[in-house]
Parts: sequence; structure tokens; C-alpha cells
Amino acid sequence: MSSDQWRQQLSQEQYYVCREKGTERPFTGKWLVCQESGSFQCVCCGNLLFDASSQFDSGCGWPSFDQVIDNSNVKIVRDTSHNMERMEVTCAQCEAHLGHVFNDGPTETGVRYCINSISIDHQT
Ligand SMILES: [Zn+2]
Repeated sequence: MSSDQWRQQLSQEQYYVCREKGTERPFTGKWLVCQESGSFQCVCCGNLLFDASSQFDSGCGWPSFDQVIDNSNVKIVRDTSHNMERMEVTCAQCEAHLGHVFNDGPTETGVRYCINSISIDHQT
């Protein structure tokens, strides 16, 4: 899809985060509180990303997950913006910016996917 098409489909804030790699303000997201069941999909294309059971409360201000449903559903890209070296998480299907992944997860997987609420949609 072209950026004009994305602009039509997405809200201004969704466009900013997903297509321009923005970050929503911490502790403001819709999915901050752990969901009891269901799954999360890419808000742009519906690609299945996270199971609700993998969400945990990291205290960082964004929804956090300790694993993806299928590693092939996301693409991890090296991100050196803002003078930091981070690993960006993008949707493998539509390249939406989702958030970042860190290797300091408190659960047995050891990883923490820090995801913008606005990039994802929950379904039960
Ligand atoms: Zn997508």
C-alpha cells in the first residue's frame, strides 16, 4: 500500500506510530493492562502477532510480551536511531512499526517485546 492509502485507512496517531516509527506516550495505551485471553494482531493488516497469555506487566509503560505467536510473523530490524542500538519489531506482512524487543525479559524466554498499543488490536 502507498502512504496515501495507509493515511486513509489509519488514524493520524496510528499512521504516526506504525508507518513513521513513532512511539506512543508511555502509560497511555489501550492494551497496557494484561488481557486475560485472546490474541493481538497487527492493526494495519490483521497479521496475528501475540497471544494474550504471553503478555506480562513489565512496568515500562507499554504492553509487553515474552514471545510472538510465530517468529516468522514479525521481522526484527536493527535500529540505531536516537543514538541507541535497539532491535525494532516490525510486522512481517506489512512492515508496520510495532515496537522494540529487548533481551532483559523476566520470564523464561528472556525477551521482552515492548509494543505500542496503537499498533495492535485485541480479539477474544
Ligand atoms: Zn501488518
